[in-house]
Amino acid sequence: MRRISVFGATGSIGLNTLDLLRRDRDAYEIVALTGGRNVARLVELAREFRPAVAVLSDEGDLPALRDGLAGTGVEAAAGHAALIEAASRPADWVMSAIVGAAGLEPGLHALRAGATLALANKESMVCAGPLMLETARAHGAAILPVDSEHSAVFQALIGEDLAAVERVIITASGGAFRDWPLADLARATPEQAATHPNWAMGQRITIDSASMFNKALELIETKEFFGIDPGRIETVVHPESMIHALVGFVDGALMAHVGPPDMRHAIGFALHHPARRTLPVERLDLVRLGTLSFRTACEDRWPALRLAREVMRAGGLSGAVFNAAKEAALDAFVARRIGFTQMAEVVEDVLDRTTPERDAADGAISLDTVLHADQMARQAAGDAIAARAR
Ligand code: NAD
Ligand code: MG
Repeated sequence: MRRISVFGATGSIGLNTLDLLRRDRDAYEIVALTGGRNVARLVELAREFRPAVAVLSDEGDLPALRDGLAGTGVEAAAGHAALIEAASRPADWVMSAIVGAAGLEPGLHALRAGATLALANKESMVCAGPLMLETARAHGAAILPVDSEHSAVFQALIGEDLAAVERVIITASGGAFRDWPLADLARATPEQAATHPNWAMGQRITIDSASMFNKALELIETKEFFGIDPGRIETVVHPESMIHALVGFVDGALMAHVGPPDMRHAIGFALHHPARRTLPVERLDLVRLGTLSFRTACEDRWPALRLAREVMRAGGLSGAVFNAAKEAALDAFVARRIGFTQMAEVVEDVLDRTTPERDAADGAISLDTVLHADQMARQAAGDAIAARAR
């Protein structure tokens, strides 16, 4: 039996992961399931999957979790230390699907314990790519990308020589506002931004899709994960979300990964890698699909893309600063303190003003410097938000 943990089990990626595990229940022993604040859902999942431990992020929720799990034999735990302890338990395969920088530490601990880490939490790569890769290397662990674009690139690169890659094209749906007049964006509400044309995802990543901060994170993730030169990473708007990424080679060949927008493909690929197994995803009917379309990803509409290029050029801790500023700006937008277009202004301000502690000369970064850069950026974002708050 494979030992499996799912971090962020109660979210969109977590539930899709459990949907796959449920279909082959006897093949897996569940070590840990974790959730943020959704006690009822974690109780329900833990009652079904019977992990050794169920963990919530907030210690105040522990009594309710204990009550819900009474008589099941499932250990109830809560708080940061409990999350880290659960991540450090031996497991063969761990899904990293907490949203935000909060997913970084559990993922690092799972790697230290030697697990294969299925990485949906793109923020880990953006904030601490070199640290993630080095930790995996040092502990004989593997990281498999679960972001659909990166799973697509990973699959297109199987058997290929990285030196033969000319470019990587990451597609973007364009999110909720791709067809809105530019002048209307400043008035866009959180509810409008949280509606995705093609994908059903968590609220935060859906709003990040409308602002293209999600794509910005993914461009940085591409650089960090595959070691691709930023000048070779492109993005194009592809409203149908059927092609997830393309890899262009020096001989002119362009390999595209095509499939319906269903995260169970990328999750299932990572679950069974290096094998391919039958997955419950829709098979495409190309004739019914008819046409696929592409447009320029315009940086006037999506300044996050320009900021991502700056971050890729700067490297070091700028990814951690960028992500933390983005998270703070997103919170402020959801709380209606700033407008939609002000999120990019805040992030740009913070990038300009924050110079985190220098990294080691060899480019190595430690968890402490990453967390410190994250803190500095959140403080600077607080000021940038207060200056604009309505
Ligand atoms: P979600 O909001 O639906 O779920 C997030 C999970 O993390 C939940 O279980 C939540 O309870 C938990 N959580 C939130 N804050 C936490 C904290 N501070 N500490 C501990 N747990 C916390 O998000 P999602 O859409 O499932 O996305 C999860 C991750 O996967 C994100 O990094 C996202 O960018 C990435 N991702 C998601 C999709 C998708 O289709 N949803 C696709 C690609 C990548
Ligand atoms: Mg993606």
